[in-house]
Order: sequence, then C-alpha cells, then structure tokens
Amino acid sequence: MKKLTDLRPCDHCGGPLTGGLFHVLRFSLAVVKAQAVNEFAGISRFFGGRASAAVVMNFAPAAADAIVVAMDEPDARALMTEVVLCNRCYCDDVNLAVLAEKRAAATADTDTPATTTA
Ligand SMILES: [Zn+2]
Repeated sequence: MKKLTDLRPCDHCGGPLTGGLFHVLRFSLAVVKAQAVNEFAGISRFFGGRASAAVVMNFAPAAADAIVVAMDEPDARALMTEVVLCNRCYCDDVNLAVLAEKRAAATADTDTPATTTA
C-alpha cells in the first residue's frame, strides 16, 4: 500500500481515512509445529527436566523453527490479512475476526481465485 489508488474506506466504519493519519494492520494465522514440541519435550524428559532450554535446543533442532507465522512464509502470504482503520476506529473496539472476514469477502470479489483461499 503505497499509492493513492490503494486507499480505500475504513474497513470498520466504511468512512473516509481523513486527516492523513490512519492505521494499517497486517496479521495472519500462526501455528506451532507439533513435531517440534514433541521433540523438545522428549529431549527435556531425557535430561530429566534439569537441562536448560538452550541445552535442549541443541539436541532438538526442529524446535528452532517451531512457530510458523504464515505471512512470513513466501508461499503462504495469501493467509495474511491487511485492514485499514481510521484513527477513530483504531481507538474504538474492533473485532479483528469480523474485519478479516469482511476483507476476505471484499478481496474474493476482486482477486483471482488463487489468492482468495484465506
Ligand atoms: Zn473507521
């Protein structure tokens, strides 16, 4: 979002992004890999729970990449949601899940089918 043509109304209230100040929120799904957790727990159990996390990590290499944030992965960026909020809505109560659904519906109308699987 850099061009003036990228601007759209506030995703919460539908009002204009007036005043030149607004907020862009980008968020995505994240997951903890079960294999990494099991490996970490297994190695920790092997040491009787007395080894530090750093020592356990040396013997559980999968634990180093245990958390996957979808928008950080090049092939899963479609799972990222970007919403824009006017300054008033940013300070108000908003439901991010509702906003994500609204954005998914809006982008489904304009995007190609390959990018609408969020
Ligand atoms: Zn608003």
